[in-house]
Amino acid sequence: MQKILKVRFDYINLKQATETAIQWAQGDIQKHIITPNPEMVLEAQNNNKFLKVLNRSDLNIPDGIGILWAAKYLKITENSIFKSMKILKWFWSLLMIAIYPRYIRSELPERVTGADLMQSICKSCEDTKIFLLGADEGVAEQVKEILEKKHKKINIVGTYAGSPKEKDEKEIRRMIDDSQAQILFVAYGAPVQEMWINRNLKKMPKVSVAVGIGGTFDYIAGVRKRAPGWMQKIGLEWLYRVAQQPSRIARIYRATVKFPMKILRYRL
Ligand code: UDP
Repeated sequence: MQKILKVRFDYINLKQATETAIQWAQGDIQKHIITPNPEMVLEAQNNNKFLKVLNRSDLNIPDGIGILWAAKYLKITENSIFKSMKILKWFWSLLMIAIYPRYIRSELPERVTGADLMQSICKSCEDTKIFLLGADEGVAEQVKEILEKKHKKINIVGTYAGSPKEKDEKEIRRMIDDSQAQILFVAYGAPVQEMWINRNLKKMPKVSVAVGIGGTFDYIAGVRKRAPGWMQKIGLEWLYRVAQQPSRIARIYRATVKFPMKILRYRL
């Protein structure tokens, strides 16, 4: 377990997270899984309710090289006394992301995005009942078709775009509960999807596992493309996103500039 700017992270990789989620899905105890990224950690600094939801979750899996880096940097500067040393190590560890990414993986082992987690669960969960909530009209239905073609044993019992507005919650809950879903994937973007799950999970007793997965349905349906694997590995997925969606520039700035600066300030 690690704390980064007050947010708890669990030491777990994709394989273990997948097995854990599938096992939880068979049980009666409801579980909320979150994949916090640097932006979400920053959001939690000014949003106490969100911070509480993050720290109350059953599993917090790092989504973002920035999170792995922060865990490593905070560790290597734990006993540093001099400011100059802390700054030097900051530059050095950031540089290591590009030249030797394995270096930053010792405190938290792996970056697991919502997209990775969802696809891995869908690949291995066989008969577990799944509900897909969120994204634009028709996208979740497209995702269902794609996943059913890909994984013969998958059991998607419902899809709905809906909206995260509180006035629509009752109807959405009824739909999900009627479907008997055991795993619920929510694609409303952070922090909205985590707050939605926090408000509604207890009122859908048949759902055992709920996971917020951001824009994953868009990636699976091909509405948006993910960066090539090599770019993801060296922490450059953000660059691909700038090119693809220039309107995300402010969000990318927060993740790639503001977050490392905040970590440095915290350490100084
Ligand atoms: N979304 C939605 N309803 C809303 C707001 C967002 O269904 O009111 C969906 C949106 O269509 C997208 C996802 O939420 O599929 C959020 O994607 P984003 O790119 O913000 O997530 P990221 O992948 O960056 O976490």
